[in-house]
Amino acid sequence: MSGAQRRAILAMVAALMLTGCQSQQVAVTGTADRDRIEAYEAMSETALVETEGLWGDGSVQLPVSVVLPATPEEFEELTGGAASSRDAPAVTVGAMAKAHVVVHPDSWDLLTAEGRQAVLTHEVTHLSMQGDGPVPPWLGEGLAEYTAHRSSALAPATIAGSALDRVRAGELPTTWPTLASQAGPVRSRTNTWGSYAMSWLACLYVADAWSERDLLELYEQVAGGTRVEDAIPAVLGVSEAEAISGWQVWLRAMVATE
Ligand SMILES: [Zn+2]
Repeated sequence: MSGAQRRAILAMVAALMLTGCQSQQVAVTGTADRDRIEAYEAMSETALVETEGLWGDGSVQLPVSVVLPATPEEFEELTGGAASSRDAPAVTVGAMAKAHVVVHPDSWDLLTAEGRQAVLTHEVTHLSMQGDGPVPPWLGEGLAEYTAHRSSALAPATIAGSALDRVRAGELPTTWPTLASQAGPVRSRTNTWGSYAMSWLACLYVADAWSERDLLELYEQVAGGTRVEDAIPAVLGVSEAEAISGWQVWLRAMVATE
């Protein structure tokens, strides 16, 4: 056997061993019951598939690390006890390789199976955004929600629920949503324009009226340092004001066909 052949075989063996190690795609730990740990292992696998389905293979650093504290006190301890995260169903803490998702123990009882999955996929999207430049919260949170609801069979107006009540009453937002805090998507959802649901609807509008590719391109441009008002014309070919007017028409049509 030549040296080159030997090196080729060794490289193949190393690649196979690496593949073996990578099969551990999710790491769910914590003091929660074994049953719940196992349920979240399966949900984390799904979240990874959903996230990579939109953002591309390899977009999430593996393993997806999820921590399940058994008590709210422990959750607060693990997430630093920030006021904005106290009522969140889950929070992503740490950065880059150390980034992990901490799930609030109450979210199991408060959410439906679909809701739990959406929360986890939302947070895994944040894992995939690690290292990207800053974007306005409506774009970052809206895209995390977009990823979470992308394969849902429910109608958007059903998922948005009461967040659309003001639209149903004939009012319309005149700016992109302004999120007051970085709190979680479900438990702190408020009935104002500045909700996670409205942020999601802004992103859904871009994907619907243009394309999903354009939505991701818009995010990449803004994360790369382009201002939203400049990225919109560059990617979508309309001014920011025109995009917002289009969103208004789109929102009105959504509630008209409920
Ligand atoms: Zn979020």
